[in-house]
Amino acid sequence: MRPRRSLESRARTLPNLKHHRRSTVAKNAWRDPDLRARQSITTKKAWEDPVRRNKKSIEMKRAWTDFVYKARTKAGMKLCWTNPVRKKKGRDIMKRAWACSSYRAKISASQKALWADPAFRAKMSAIQKRIQNDPKVQIKRSIALKLSWARPGFRDRMSIARKKSMADPIVRQAWLLKMSRSWKKRTKIELKLLDWLKQNQVEYDEQSTVVGIRNHVFDFVIPRNEIVLEADGCFWHACAEHYPLKKDDRRCSQAIRDRRLADRCLELGWRIIRLWEHEINSGDFSKLSVALKGK
Ligand SMILES: [Zn+2]
Repeated sequence: MRPRRSLESRARTLPNLKHHRRSTVAKNAWRDPDLRARQSITTKKAWEDPVRRNKKSIEMKRAWTDFVYKARTKAGMKLCWTNPVRKKKGRDIMKRAWACSSYRAKISASQKALWADPAFRAKMSAIQKRIQNDPKVQIKRSIALKLSWARPGFRDRMSIARKKSMADPIVRQAWLLKMSRSWKKRTKIELKLLDWLKQNQVEYDEQSTVVGIRNHVFDFVIPRNEIVLEADGCFWHACAEHYPLKKDDRRCSQAIRDRRLADRCLELGWRIIRLWEHEINSGDFSKLSVALKGK
């Protein structure tokens, strides 16, 4: 007796034949404009009927819980999207639809209505989180991202799009601050420096930017004295006393960045004060206190 085939293997062989047969019949039928018009009217009517819509939706949901149906549909979609001709066709249809302003307005209105519902928002956010935390998805995404960046022209396109949006100073500043605040936690030495500033009643902005320097968020900015303050770790910023730079050091790029930043600050009339980790840890804030008295 032949062993029974698994559901998976059955599902795998299903799409080709059935998909093809259905698609040929449907294609021939759709060539008839009359039938197309009639179909469109009946479909519309059917969708306008809430009872029917509900029934259909339940049917669809039930269908999607069926493993074979799900696998078949997924395989069919994959087949579609791996076929360049079909892919182009699908894209063209979408493009045509998006070119029509009434279609855009309709979609936009329905989207807005959906997102206005807090329950929907919560549901979507939960789904998003689940997807983001899935290690399988993470790996897939990272590979896709790498492939995208390797594609010719992608880098340029991205850079142009980014430049366009970043050309707006408000957008840029907001983005920079948001990123630094969400990514960066305060380091231990930053906290110590913060304590000192509070004790000495210095007015400061934490994690802030300076007009004219677009690509850096400073640990502290003291606008009154035009001082920017950085708490630098001995290792990463290559303190000469504890971790001096060696030849071909991987920290060289950081050192160059630090240097450039200092130059730019001076150009703009800001004094940059870098307190080393060892200075902060030993409670030596003399550099800062001298600078603060100086102005
Ligand atoms: Zn040091």
